[in-house]
Amino acid sequence: MSLSVLRHPDFDRTKYGPSTVNIHAGEPRDAYGALVPPIYQTSTFYFDSTDDAVKACDDYAESFAYSRITNPSNDYFEKKIAAAEHGLGAVSYASGMGAVAGAIFMSVRAGDHALFCKAKYSGTEDITRDFLPRFGVDVGTFDPQNLETLKDGIKDNTKLIYVESPANPTMVMADIAAISAIAHEHGIKVGVDNTFATPYNTNPLDLGADWVVQSVTKYIGGHGDLLGGAIISNDEGFLRDCRLGTLMHFGAVMAPQIAFLATRGLKTLAVRMKQYNTNALQIAQYLEQHPKIDIVRYPFLPSNPQYELAKRQMRGGGGMLSFDVKGGLEAGKTFINHLKLCTLAVSLGDTETLVEQAAAMTHTMIPREVREAAGITDGMIRMSVGLEDPEDIIADLDQALAVV
Ligand SMILES: *Cc1c(COP(=O)(O)O)cnc(C)c1O
Repeated sequence: MSLSVLRHPDFDRTKYGPSTVNIHAGEPRDAYGALVPPIYQTSTFYFDSTDDAVKACDDYAESFAYSRITNPSNDYFEKKIAAAEHGLGAVSYASGMGAVAGAIFMSVRAGDHALFCKAKYSGTEDITRDFLPRFGVDVGTFDPQNLETLKDGIKDNTKLIYVESPANPTMVMADIAAISAIAHEHGIKVGVDNTFATPYNTNPLDLGADWVVQSVTKYIGGHGDLLGGAIISNDEGFLRDCRLGTLMHFGAVMAPQIAFLATRGLKTLAVRMKQYNTNALQIAQYLEQHPKIDIVRYPFLPSNPQYELAKRQMRGGGGMLSFDVKGGLEAGKTFINHLKLCTLAVSLGDTETLVEQAAAMTHTMIPREVREAAGITDGMIRMSVGLEDPEDIIADLDQALAVV
């Protein structure tokens, strides 16, 4: 049963390009013909009879009864992001971490083992090092650049392999097709955090992943004005378990106004990503030739050791890159303190160019030896390239580097 009544019930996303899909998939039929449907700012839903109520409450996931489980604004967003990620369905959460935690805790239980790529979002890192062991889940890591470490890490009780591609903040990529093939040989599920790549650049479900998570806060919302998350999958049983499990009972529910904003953001994702892809490549090329820069990590630079994989797995290199200024942490600080246009802030995927020092800011909770083993140097600067004119961003970088 479909929750909302659709405007184009026969819309087949496989027949259209990503811009068209993001704009037209999942559009609801509004009672008054509104092009943009209203925000369903309601916590609960009425019934005309006890029979109707009993029917709805018999299956909370397939009816509108209470907004902690389903809401028409969220349903609209979920249908759209499911189409964007090439999945059959989606569950929205209050934040990316709501979705990450919701998907991981739905995938493993006490006595299981899970394998994670080494470098990852710091919140996910904390879940693997702190929370999963507390609940009796054994955790290991592997290096996506060497799949022998994955094969060696698999145990009889491994139930989940989890990757970020490109990873935050090292930009190390994971070969999702190869990892999924290895995992499925052993009956193991694969989860992918697709926040950095976005569904415009990579479609992990097409490559064999079992589920995808998005921090909607980033490129999907796209304007730095919301927090949200989503789990997307072709496994409708898994999505149902997430909705009636970690969403309904842990309660990290996306608010209807946020679903409205996230849907609005998603409609322009493709056109924004095209611009991020060209802006970031131009800036990566500029940084790479600069004598004061040590190393630039960007998927679409030919110098990237994973360039071939990037070309195969990504439509474009995305808007994220990281680099080291020669002279390490202190030189990096001087550089950042002299930026005028680029803004010092955590988070990413906004219209503004944002820079941060990962070891001192986003990844500071991670012990140094774990950071270093994951390739996160003290001086590493992570940059979320914005939608400003690239010449202006480069001019700002240039004047700040001149001071270093
Ligand atoms: C930001 C981020 C998250 C967490 O998302 P929130 O919306 O901040 O909770 C998870 N994974 C990656 C890769 C991120 O960049």
